Amino acid sequence: MRIGIVGAGLGGLLSGALLSKNNEVVVFEKLPFLGGRFTNLEYEGFQLTTGALHMIPHGNDGYLAQALRKVGANVKIINSNPDGTFLIYGKEYLYKELFSLVGFKDKVKAMNMAAKLKLGMVDKDMSFGEFLEDVDLALKVGNAFTGWALSLTAYETPMSEIVEIAKNYHKFGGPGIPIGGCKAVIDELTKIIEKNNGKIIKEYEVKSIEIDEKAYIDDYEFDIVISNISPVETQKICNIKFLKSKPKPSKGIKISIATKDGLIKHGGVLFTPECERINGLNQVTNVDKSLAPEGWHLVMTHQTQLTNNVKKEIDLGLEDIENLFKGKEYKILHIQSYRDDWPVNHASNGTDIDNIVNDKLYLVGDGAKGRGGIEVEGIAMGILKVVNHINS
Ligand code: FAD
Repeated sequence: MRIGIVGAGLGGLLSGALLSKNNEVVVFEKLPFLGGRFTNLEYEGFQLTTGALHMIPHGNDGYLAQALRKVGANVKIINSNPDGTFLIYGKEYLYKELFSLVGFKDKVKAMNMAAKLKLGMVDKDMSFGEFLEDVDLALKVGNAFTGWALSLTAYETPMSEIVEIAKNYHKFGGPGIPIGGCKAVIDELTKIIEKNNGKIIKEYEVKSIEIDEKAYIDDYEFDIVISNISPVETQKICNIKFLKSKPKPSKGIKISIATKDGLIKHGGVLFTPECERINGLNQVTNVDKSLAPEGWHLVMTHQTQLTNNVKKEIDLGLEDIENLFKGKEYKILHIQSYRDDWPVNHASNGTDIDNIVNDKLYLVGDGAKGRGGIEVEGIAMGILKVVNHINS
């Protein structure tokens, strides 16, 4: 079969790598580089990124890692240990230690919540915020988690997604970092497509998708088109209208910091429930020193964008950083705000569009994630569904 793919983000390249072994694949990318929001951006010897925080949500065991193994990608993912810690009252705690921080009544309520979540015995129509709001600390911790992982507040996160995320967490565990960062994944996928005689055309902006007897990308004829651009942008350039609901994008701000002192001792996430805006940070150089010049650490913060005043949001993030780094030397490398056509997610969790439009048109990427799929794990879940459908 001839398969045309619009966009060479992680979604387009992973689809291409999985399908190019048995099909003729052509990928069209409008930018001069591959990987979209999941690749490195070198700056003063630091491997910053176009989007992601160099983290794979379920590390070496999740859906993305499984798909990478399936295509024979040579990517080494180091699982974080611990997954994360929580900075509360100036001290770091593991998740299980948080229960000791609240009084007896709240401890009973919090343990009850944790048990209900583990067993999936919750009202799936409520939001995560409503589920947690009885215990102040639980709500703060919940906000830090959803802000970091989904770029949403706990009140914006449907409980139905949290239940699926919890299942995936129990199945696969927490995050990991690919050695070489995001670009290591993108380079391997590119190599595999090219080895399978697939074609990748850069600096080509697709203007139309037409689904008829055949499937067309501009004047190129295919049997199937896979779109890795957002569902809304796909519909804009497509002759068929398929969106019954509009996905709601999630916005966020990332600040990249250079420090010789270092701030975090582990390779996981430091969640910051008490910050005004920053939801969490990581220090990826604890796992892969090559992501910064010798003697330096790279720390990246993430915050969901709470208001439309981006400058104010950034200023509040910078104030948080000043407090977090008190007494330590650091330098701000880069401040990036993600919204509009370069958001954190084209569809925030719970608003994703189905991958299968019809037998000739498929959607992949972070506007069409699988349920309970955090970021690239959700993208991989959606792609595995598409590939199974095409191969069936
Ligand atoms: P994209 O990467 O956007 O790829 C789409 C591609 O299509 C782009 O290259 C674009 O140029 C191209 N394109 C668009 N229109 C056209 C056209 N008309 N013709 C041809 N090409 C076109 N995820 C994680 O798993 N871990 C993290 O640590 C993490 N952290 C994040 C932090 C931030 C600040 C952000 C912004 C995102 C983060 N994410 C993270 C999310 C993750 O980066 C994205 O979900 C993922 O990279 C999206 O991949 P995609 O393939 O869906 O889309």
